[in-house]
Amino acid sequence: MSKIKVNSRIVEIDGDEMTRIMWQMVKDKLLFPYLEMDLEYYDLHVSKRDETDDQITQDAANAIRKYGVGVKCATITPDRERVKEYKLKQMWKSPNGTIRAMLDGTVFRSPILVKNVKPAVKSWVKPIVIGRHAYGDVYKNAELAISGPGKAEIVFTPGDGGEPMRLTVQEFDGPGIFQGIHNLDASIRSFAGACFTFAYDQKIDVWFSVKDTISKTYDARFRDIFEEEFTKHWSDKFKEANLTYFFTLIDDAVARVMKDEGGFLWACKNYDGDVMSDMVASAFGSLAMMTSVLVSPHGYFEYEAAHGTVQKHYYKHQAGEKTSTNSTAIIFAWTGCLKKRGELDNTPDVVEFATKVEEATIETIEAGIMTGDMARIAEPKPKNPIGTAEFIDAIASRLHQKQ
Ligand code: NAP
Ligand code: MG
Repeated sequence: MSKIKVNSRIVEIDGDEMTRIMWQMVKDKLLFPYLEMDLEYYDLHVSKRDETDDQITQDAANAIRKYGVGVKCATITPDRERVKEYKLKQMWKSPNGTIRAMLDGTVFRSPILVKNVKPAVKSWVKPIVIGRHAYGDVYKNAELAISGPGKAEIVFTPGDGGEPMRLTVQEFDGPGIFQGIHNLDASIRSFAGACFTFAYDQKIDVWFSVKDTISKTYDARFRDIFEEEFTKHWSDKFKEANLTYFFTLIDDAVARVMKDEGGFLWACKNYDGDVMSDMVASAFGSLAMMTSVLVSPHGYFEYEAAHGTVQKHYYKHQAGEKTSTNSTAIIFAWTGCLKKRGELDNTPDVVEFATKVEEATIETIEAGIMTGDMARIAEPKPKNPIGTAEFIDAIASRLHQKQ
């Protein structure tokens, strides 16, 4: 059998622990037998990041800037324990944070649906994708606790030497708290651009929600910038593709989401996205059934699983015990990346192959062959959850039948 050729280079970013083990298996059993790929490999194993003083993470992000499409394995974000465990020079920053900053990207998380796991919300039959604005607001705030009476103000001192602008937040007559937050027009604009790019790419509608009835300047700016971006760059394209952009108040959006069938991108401000993405993920089932893509308004794409390195399973694996870890999100990270590459290269055979891999994965789970995380929530429940490697083997044999 001749292999399918992937025309352009793909940036492959390896990672840590259990996901690193599954990463290799997925390549060996599902991809390499069928594809001729030109991979530019970056090893972001936490020891490699330490060895290179984290230069490798920057190199990986630069490679995505150069080649456009990458796929990333989950990586450890070191904390104090990890510094000890791996004898690291320092608590290196989150690689995802570094890459996101360098690509100016927005992260979109999409659930993978299977027939035998029903979402907790009955009406949901299509994926709900959350796009979270990952800059500013309360995540980059300045806050103070005050112990007694006084006046809290916000002050802006113009860089050009103009008159300072000030507003009273509160005249305190006792102890209390207050905070200052900010955002940037450029960041909101780039977020809006990434949302419309992603939704148009996926052919799904966009919902956007803020609280502009209460926050008449701050949240209203988000609404205005989205409206401007949409009108300027997307309204014609959306109309042609029969897609809509729908703006509503955050409370209204939350109420509607619970009654909707799904199948749209919900663009959220930073805090809303943080909270709602966890709610949506948990309502759809397992973290291992959630993929994630970083979309940059400059046209770069990086695909990954939404979950972490599955540390606890890795320690079991190291101890020689049998594991039952779900590789679905990792598989879909690869297929997402291959589909995008195929689309950009205009190689439909690559897109078709990636679709077959996705089908083989979903059909395997729907046939009742699944790992422990899914076995807990599936209806009907399978008798025995399957092991990590056996699950990938079962997909491989189904994929083989499709060739
Ligand atoms: P995690 O790796 O997502 O795992 C948390 C728990 O979720 C697991 O213990 C497991 O539950 C379940 N789970 C997650 N993925 C699964 C899968 N594929 N199959 C089956 N069960 C799965 O989160 P964590 O343990 O909090 O974090 C571990 C490391 O990952 C940390 O060092 C963190 O820095 C890193 N991390 C990286 C990324 C990234 O690179 N994108 C994201 C998040 C976290 P049970 O134990 O109940 O089976
Ligand atoms: Mg959260």
